[in-house]
Amino acid sequence: MALIVQKYGGTSMGSPDRIRNVAKRVARWKAQGHQLVVVVSAMSGETNRLIALAKDVSPQPDGRELDVMISTGEQVTIALLAMALMDLGLKAKSYTGSQVKVLTDSTFTKARILDIDGDNIRRDLDAGTVVIVAGFQGVDADGNITTLGRGGSDTSGVALAAALKADECQIYTDVDGVYTTDPRIVPEARKLDSITFEEMLEMASLGSKVLQIRSVEFAGKYKVKLRVLSSFEEEGKETMGTLITFEEDSKMEQAIISGIAFNRDEAKLTVLGVPDRPGIAYQILGAIAEANIDVDMIIQNVGHDGTTDFSFTVPRGEFDRAKKILDEQVSPHVGARAVEGDKHICKVSAVGVGMRSHPGVASKMFRVLAEEGINIQMISTSEIKISVVVDEKYLELAVRVLHKAFDLDQAAA
Ligand code: ASP
Ligand code: MG
Repeated sequence: MALIVQKYGGTSMGSPDRIRNVAKRVARWKAQGHQLVVVVSAMSGETNRLIALAKDVSPQPDGRELDVMISTGEQVTIALLAMALMDLGLKAKSYTGSQVKVLTDSTFTKARILDIDGDNIRRDLDAGTVVIVAGFQGVDADGNITTLGRGGSDTSGVALAAALKADECQIYTDVDGVYTTDPRIVPEARKLDSITFEEMLEMASLGSKVLQIRSVEFAGKYKVKLRVLSSFEEEGKETMGTLITFEEDSKMEQAIISGIAFNRDEAKLTVLGVPDRPGIAYQILGAIAEANIDVDMIIQNVGHDGTTDFSFTVPRGEFDRAKKILDEQVSPHVGARAVEGDKHICKVSAVGVGMRSHPGVASKMFRVLAEEGINIQMISTSEIKISVVVDEKYLELAVRVLHKAFDLDQAAA
């Protein structure tokens, strides 16, 4: 018998039929003798609908009131799932975040979980009851309802699994696992049986939307065994999805590269001809940081004639704001020659823990791109990732040739 936390997303809970299907799946796990805690999202589209409604009434809604409202989506689905389970003859009971006592700080709309009281849940589990918990919500020390940020039910699931010391946290979604790359771009992409936490974290921060990044961080920190699976596989045809492992636990020889990730959501800015002296990087990026704009990649060229060029990338949605800051505040101040921007770039990354022990990954990546005539504009690396910025028009080509060059279309030996 294991204690399993399952989390079902909005699509899995999207209609009465789908909720009944989730109930059947939960019942099958229960019939195998496991204890089950089920965390659910609101029905797909519901949270968006509630936010739009709030903004329709008040353009800048108060955070506390917004959380009172947008937490209701999950209050509906927990009760519906409990009813569906009871109709199947199971004992089931729903809990809101404050009924469990998912204690958070008071940062409305993006609160952080501080503590979870597992007592009620454990008592119910011991009595054979399936416990259903509203994702995305908690309560602060003053009893105010809080929410955890969009996509926060993943974090609720992982946090509950950590608090209850569950044997496994299963995240059910509309894809059947984590892939070597987006199958819409490379049809040969393969589902990975396992991926390490560090790799998953890189993939999530590089734009893979499978898991909310905070939930992956949480799972890594508390060593929660996490699995991504599909809630749409039929009975008898279920697969085990992708297990997210700790490197030290995985006994298999690691593939050098586990996946090719990409992100179209960036833009590049270059400050040309700035004086090559101490403090320039700070003057440029300090102003950007003050405006709360995230900077991803940065390069500064080798200086010549006493000046240098300085480039960095920002989220595409922040491009105009960042450009304005450079034009109006930074450029005149540091005496730059000009500011240039390019919105038509993308970032392509190779991710893999095997890189640590295999030299030559970067040079292979650059060779493969060169053979296709793809110009690399920027490069950044970490221990387990190499990212390049290239023209957006090469995105699909770059992902495809890299996926092939690193044999990702081939099943692991
Ligand atoms: N319902 C919330 C949202 O749409 C939380 C979640 O789905 O994880 O963001
Ligand atoms: Mg969701």
